[in-house]
Amino acid sequence: MKIPKPIRALIEAFQKLPGIGPKTAQRLTYYLLHVPQGELDSFADALSNLKKDTVLCSVCRNVSEGDPCPVCSDRSRDFSSVLVVEQPLDILAIERTGKYKGLYHVLHGAISPLENIGPDEIYIKDLLDRVRDSQPAKDSSIREVIIATNPTMEGDATAMYISKKLKTQMSKLKSKKLKITRLGMGIPTGADLEYADEATLAEALEGRRPM
Ligand code: ZN
Repeated sequence: MKIPKPIRALIEAFQKLPGIGPKTAQRLTYYLLHVPQGELDSFADALSNLKKDTVLCSVCRNVSEGDPCPVCSDRSRDFSSVLVVEQPLDILAIERTGKYKGLYHVLHGAISPLENIGPDEIYIKDLLDRVRDSQPAKDSSIREVIIATNPTMEGDATAMYISKKLKTQMSKLKSKKLKITRLGMGIPTGADLEYADEATLAEALEGRRPM
């Protein structure tokens, strides 16, 4: 028996999502056949507006409805500190701790030779330029970069790379005013930041150590 084409198309689309195998893709698709057309239309609208109605903040590269994003345009935040994460979801995890009042920078990935992701494939250069360009400013220059990439092989390699690049850049600028730190231990090795609980994250933030 042949599965009708529209059904097959949706099953294939679901299967492209992370963590969804063929069985789940089939189940989701047949479930949606029972959902009223109006609800399906809203679902489809949400999908098609997902990227249309969002931009990457030109300062921190977080996903946002406006540019700059609400964090980068909030003058009550501490502009001297930038916390570097792999993904936008990591920002939500840090914000939930309520312990961090600085700004962010989203890399949108980590260096991974196995997956052919080099430093130029993620937003590292934007970070280096951002730190460099902020240096002459008196009240908004970046004084600390907290590297909060995941405690995985890729996250660690990315942290090392960024730290090295920042140090070279600062010595070229003849400046010693930048502190580079890494989130402290506590987050289990190999885990993703976004899954760490608030207490663990707050502790890791508190226990950050110089690189
Ligand atoms: Zn921003």
